[in-house]
Amino acid sequence: MEDKKVVSFEKKHSKANDKTQELEYCSFCKRPNTQVPKMVKGPGVNICSECTLIAVQYLILQDGLMSAEAQKILDLLWGVSKK
Ligand SMILES: [Zn+2]
Repeated sequence: MEDKKVVSFEKKHSKANDKTQELEYCSFCKRPNTQVPKMVKGPGVNICSECTLIAVQYLILQDGLMSAEAQKILDLLWGVSKK
């Protein structure tokens, strides 16, 4: 009986611990993943969802032009149809 109690506690504890241990900082805005909606983890770098949006908007605005493939993907993501 006691074993069961310990096991369930450890499971709960390690699960809660996982979230706090995986503290990642956005490489762009330096905010921890606890302060941003989502964090995309890459090899050695991280980018939060807000910086991703800023980066995408910046690239689109800077280039002004997108390939047809990129436009298709964006249309799918945003649900925008220009046709
Ligand atoms: Zn960020």
